[in-house]
Amino acid sequence: MRIVMLGAPGSGKGTQAQKIMAERGIPQISTGDLLRAAVSSGSELGRRAKAAMDAGELVSDDIVLGIIRERLSSPDAANGFILDGYPRNGAQAEALDRVLEDIGQSLDAAVLMQVDFDILVKRVTGRRSCSKTGKLLNIHFSPQSEIDACLEAGGELLQRADDNEDTVATRLEVYRSQTEPLIEFYRARGLLRTVDAVGDVDEVYRRVLEAVGEA
Ligand code: AMP
Repeated sequence: MRIVMLGAPGSGKGTQAQKIMAERGIPQISTGDLLRAAVSSGSELGRRAKAAMDAGELVSDDIVLGIIRERLSSPDAANGFILDGYPRNGAQAEALDRVLEDIGQSLDAAVLMQVDFDILVKRVTGRRSCSKTGKLLNIHFSPQSEIDACLEAGGELLQRADDNEDTVATRLEVYRSQTEPLIEFYRARGLLRTVDAVGDVDEVYRRVLEAVGEA
């Protein structure tokens, strides 16, 4: 399975990609996670990315392309991958085509996670991750049992620096102006699969698998 997850911030790309990884053993490749790791490590790359991330803007194409090229060439991605958060504009989508051609691979599908804009803000501002397991949770929507399980295991609910209301507005606007055109890009290539991404996580997961012919 070689897929791209498309969708606005808060549409559930990361949640579903994590689930596919856990259940099918296919790596989730999240440029957001890789960039956050670079920022925390204090590397030169992280320093270059940080200002754009804090503002909710896109990090430069050359930085993310370098990351994605290296990650896609690593052995665990040889049998499939789920790209989460890349590509985010036309130049990145074209660069991805070239990288995949270089390593002799091609995409099976681009899965568009469809969620109304008014739900997205609540999803993003309520988003937390468990410090113990990395599991994504939401203080508005996750079952209390999942939140308790994290806390009882000694975990904390961490909030991303850019998951605040001010930055979310910019991130949604960046999505609309720069990333949404990719819907047509992948539709024209016959790769687009649209999923209703509102509902129970397991139900959305079932829809995703069905959309990519893996149900
Ligand atoms: P995410 O975790 O996917 O929401 O990404 C968080 C932030 O990382 C974004 O708001 C961008 O600043 C940056 N980022 C992640 N992926 C990309 C990308 N493909 N291109 C440019 N910036 C990115």
